[in-house]
Amino acid sequence: MTDIRTTPRRKVLVSGASIAGPTLAFWLNRHGYDVTVVEKAGTIRAGGYPIDVRGTALEVVRRMGILPRLRDAHIDLRRLTFLNEDGGEVASVHPHNVTGGVAGHDLEVRRGDLTEALYAAVRDDVEFVFNDCIETLDQSGDGVDVILRGGGSRRFDMVLGAEGMHSRTREMVFGPEEPFHRYLGYCFAVFTMRNTFGLSHETVMWNTPGRAAALYATGDDDVHAFLTFARPEPPFDAFPNPEAQRKLVASVFADAGWEVPGMLAAMRDADDVFFDAVAQIRMPRWSSGRVAVVGDAAYAPSFLTGQGTSLALVGAYMLAHSLADRDHAAGFATYEQDTREFVNLNQGLVGEGGATLFPATAEALRQRNDRLRKLTAMPSSAGRPAHSALTLPELTPVTPG
Ligand SMILES: Cc1cc2nc3c(=O)[nH]c(=O)nc-3n(C[C@H](O)[C@H](O)[C@H](O)COP(=O)(O)OP(=O)(O)OC[C@H]3O[C@@H](n4cnc5c(N)ncnc54)[C@H](O)[C@@H]3O)c2cc1C
Repeated sequence: MTDIRTTPRRKVLVSGASIAGPTLAFWLNRHGYDVTVVEKAGTIRAGGYPIDVRGTALEVVRRMGILPRLRDAHIDLRRLTFLNEDGGEVASVHPHNVTGGVAGHDLEVRRGDLTEALYAAVRDDVEFVFNDCIETLDQSGDGVDVILRGGGSRRFDMVLGAEGMHSRTREMVFGPEEPFHRYLGYCFAVFTMRNTFGLSHETVMWNTPGRAAALYATGDDDVHAFLTFARPEPPFDAFPNPEAQRKLVASVFADAGWEVPGMLAAMRDADDVFFDAVAQIRMPRWSSGRVAVVGDAAYAPSFLTGQGTSLALVGAYMLAHSLADRDHAAGFATYEQDTREFVNLNQGLVGEGGATLFPATAEALRQRNDRLRKLTAMPSSAGRPAHSALTLPELTPVTPG
């Protein structure tokens, strides 16, 4: 243990300003850390697809004072309708019955609404550097010497990577992504398109074995279009090449019915197509020396669990708490010890999501549809135990000496 009250403010560099990054910055600042956040984008990204905040993560945002703002931004998705190959209705259920959300309690907000609320809560207290990123880091001395791509060179006591699934800091310190990347057998493309369907606060999902097309209307304006498909091996060639991604998706869905031809046409013109593998990040350790990773960079659970955002919020809180009155080595060890079980439980939810949303065979699809028909359109009142499987420790703010 180190008594940080008698030592100068420790300097931390957080890389990535989405969900985990600003949350970590907020709580580290409360503990008297001198925090800098570097983000490669020019600004906090607005808009975006809907994400969930559930269980333990709700307590993180409540303690940050942003819960009322997020309640105002709640999307209140009312219906999830599953369609068969011909576009006929299989079942229409309350979304919580599929996601394990709790009505009136859990939150679903646009990703940008959450990132903006997190940023607003911390931007006046810590330094944000946009349009920049870590070029090199060297922890051979008594700290981490960082050179930023923009040319700056600084020394920090710690560097914390919150750069999402394909984290560069993780790669620089722990090596290539491959051994940590657990491919779950699907790829997806998501983009926005005009809501010409009359959908409002609802999702409609069309399935054939191994393929799913979904239209997700958060309000009355645009819809988020999702095209997901099973594929035994990840399409490595397509990842760096947006044109190859569009071609791959178009070929997989070439003979699809329902609204899919219109979705493919919209995808060709969309300027916000996001394509990736459905995958998790699993690492045996989340820190090395004075560098640690948090959120998707350390333990992305995949959107099949709907828990990526909640893990990022809880993980950031736990990391800050662990570092509150410890040096980096003891703090990182405590972070792992206190957070890993929660992460494991939530990453373990992945099977349920895949089986419900993307059955890969005709038999699995038939069984899924039978299960859905038995669900009600009423919202559920009990969440999944994994969502709340960690009780947050209290943070006692420390005043530097
Ligand atoms: C299509 C889709 C749907 C999803 N749906 C859900 C859902 O329904 N529910 C849910 O809970 N979660 C969902 N997620 C997951 C959720 O978005 C992530 O789990 C969550 O955003 C993780 O937060 P993070 O802060 O760890 O990383 P990210 O949100 O990925 O943020 C990383 C940040 O780091 C920045 N960055 C990257 N590299 C660098 C660098 N080298 N230097 C500096 N900055 C860098 C990025 O610009 C970004 O701002 C979904 C994800 C996707 C892609």
